[in-house]
Amino acid sequence: MARRAAARTVAEPARALRHLVLVLGDQLNRDASAFDGFDPALDAVWMAEVAEESTHIPSSRQRTVLFLSAMRHFADALRAEGLPLHYRALDDPANRHSLAAELDTAVTSLRPVALVLTAPGDWRVLQALRGVARQHGLPLDLRDDRHFYGTVRDFADHARGRQQLRMEYFYRAMRQRHGVLMDGDQPCGGQWNFDADNRQAFGRDGPGPLPPPTRVAPDATTEAVMALVDQRFADHPGQAQPFGWPVTRAQALQALDAFITHRLPHFGRWQDAMWAGEPWLYHAHLSAALNLKLLHPREVVDRAEAAYRAGQAPLPAVEGFIRQILGWREYVRGIYWTQMPGYADHNALDAQQPLPAFFWTGDTPMACLRDAIGQTLQHGYAHHIQRLMVTGLYTLLLGVQPQQVHAWYLGVYVDAVEWVELPNVLGMALFADGGVMASKPYAATGKYIQRMGNHCSGCRFDPALSTGDRACPFTTLYWDFLGRHEARLAANPRMALQVKNLARLTAEQRSAIATRADAIRAGAVDA
Ligand code: FAD
Ligand code: SF4
Repeated sequence: MARRAAARTVAEPARALRHLVLVLGDQLNRDASAFDGFDPALDAVWMAEVAEESTHIPSSRQRTVLFLSAMRHFADALRAEGLPLHYRALDDPANRHSLAAELDTAVTSLRPVALVLTAPGDWRVLQALRGVARQHGLPLDLRDDRHFYGTVRDFADHARGRQQLRMEYFYRAMRQRHGVLMDGDQPCGGQWNFDADNRQAFGRDGPGPLPPPTRVAPDATTEAVMALVDQRFADHPGQAQPFGWPVTRAQALQALDAFITHRLPHFGRWQDAMWAGEPWLYHAHLSAALNLKLLHPREVVDRAEAAYRAGQAPLPAVEGFIRQILGWREYVRGIYWTQMPGYADHNALDAQQPLPAFFWTGDTPMACLRDAIGQTLQHGYAHHIQRLMVTGLYTLLLGVQPQQVHAWYLGVYVDAVEWVELPNVLGMALFADGGVMASKPYAATGKYIQRMGNHCSGCRFDPALSTGDRACPFTTLYWDFLGRHEARLAANPRMALQVKNLARLTAEQRSAIATRADAIRAGAVDA
């Protein structure tokens, strides 16, 4: 009798589990919608560390450490709360090393009635998990990600019927809709945009003493992850140490406090400034915590607005900061989810150059690129203007194939998740989407970099020169870029003036620029 019952259990196991709640590495918040209605007696959580998430593009060691350490800390918190958790560690010998394969294993053994998932940040991951649900004939309850102000449906409603999307109008609508920095129905201070007060350079004397960034000392969990990553991903770019990123919500809140108190008051003024050897400046360094959902954008914005209202930070600084989160961050997410999957394949300028090898080492005589790439490989961080107007600008002007640039950015930054990285790279930095995201390419000569920092004074090139041995490669490539895309860019009213300046060049100058640009592309110039 007992033997017959056991046999029946093996052949037809009951579905003991109601919901298997899937938690991904960038969904580390107990308030996530996937936990709504969670019943520890009926449901369980599933998390998996898999090599594929670090190898489908080569993820830097710093980035992998951040994700794995934050996942392990979140898992510890769930266990401490008594939630049933099925967690697959990277070094578990049974690990099948892809999210789909691991979920397949879990579903086969746990036999849940349904899967529950907060909408992921990556189209590829969504397809993979949907595929497993389909294969097992299981419903997948896909829930809105509440760690944004709006939903993708809200963005689609905003976009509907508009010939051209522009961040500025989206941002104003978000301010009104969410009552951020508003006095009644008017923007605080009577204007929406304080760019004219912001975006200055430090000047000859530099930034002076800077508030130190919040760096969190690695605990035993992070130490173990660093050792694992160094051993398992020894050939991956960047370095695991030094590591100082927040990996828990409590640490992220400390980092937020420090930013609001010490750096926010100066944020706007210096948001575009650069200085050699100073990676952190007055930026927030909160993007990774936001993207892993250790922080909610609303609490970050609310803290910034409260600082303004309490007279602790000037309006231009606070508006400039809030614009990045309520505006740009929500906007790029909307672009990603309304444009994928085709968006990833865009190459509107037909750029076909390979990514220069020095992007993986920082070994280049170009001082601005050496600094930006060096700190990126060391910390997994560069601030916005370095990403847009140094590394991004160089790949735009050189004509690097967008998908190679995308793989680099997605791999090297600790805050890189595809929904935010891809539109910033393809749309903003490379204009590869032909103008979906930005109204014109961010093309400039080395003089822009000279104006915004001090790199040029320590560089063997001269940003004023476009030809000759000392010509700054950015400047040479800028004129070459305008020349190569002259017809297309002349049709863009926002580029017309820049293109018109080409006419000032003589035929000899244009030919010398083209020759030197070819040499840079061929690697014949030591750039
Ligand atoms: P701050 O300069 O202090 O800004 C505050 C916050 O605003 C950031 O934490 C971030 O959450 C948000 N923000 C600012 N600019 C943007 C933007 N353009 N898009 C979305 N959010 C923004 N950001 C990422 O989070 N992940 C990426 O992978 C990423 N890749 C980028 C690639 C390129 C080519 C460019 C030009 C920008 C990219 N950004 C990315 C946006 C921005 O550069 C980073 O968010 C910022 O540098 C992070 O540092 P911080 O927290 O000190 O930001
Ligand atoms: Fe960069 Fe050109 Fe300035 Fe050198 S001269 S730091 S390459 S912009």
